[in-house]
Amino acid sequence: SLDAAREALGRLVRDVPDYPEPGVVFKDITPLLADHDGLAAVVAGLAHAGRDADGRPVVDVVVGMEARGFILGAPVALALGAGFVPVRKAGKLPRETHAVSYDLEYGSATLEMHTDGVRAGHRVLLVDDVLATGGTARATVDLVERCGAEVVGVAVLMDLAFLPWREALGEVAVTTLMSVG
Ligand code: AMP
Repeated sequence: SLDAAREALGRLVRDVPDYPEPGVVFKDITPLLADHDGLAAVVAGLAHAGRDADGRPVVDVVVGMEARGFILGAPVALALGAGFVPVRKAGKLPRETHAVSYDLEYGSATLEMHTDGVRAGHRVLLVDDVLATGGTARATVDLVERCGAEVVGVAVLMDLAFLPWREALGEVAVTTLMSVG
């Protein structure tokens, strides 16, 4: 249940102040990943975002963003009877890619996905651990849409409510298991 997922998030995610730089509170999910019941609860909670009101899966593919989106996205894909496709930082994928660059606080970042990663018409759920500025999720939406596929939604464990991810994602449906202020 979603309650079990929220309970696990509250109990098993550690705040690490000033990591990786001063002023940032890093949400460390490794204790959650290490706990079978907690991991199962949050995977079920994320998979909920890929089902209709009757519980039937509505996605063909789960796309996960490097690196924690890989860990969470693959079991979500299995739960939904879907495949998994990785979005990676620049230079890591071996074949032809689409690339999208986006601004960070200092500088910019580039994400890539194989051009045949998702197909036209595929319905896609994006999975990651934390939604902060929304830049990573926005770039991933753009990569999926470049392939002609449809983004059903973005599912994350936690969103940072004080950051403008909602504006970054426009009309994209967002499922977040926990908002943190
Ligand atoms: P953003 O693109 O700003 O929405 O940042 C999202 C990406 O950065 C996700 O892949 C997160 O894993 C990571 N991230 C951003 N802020 C945090 C945070 N406070 N704690 C843990 N991960 C974070």
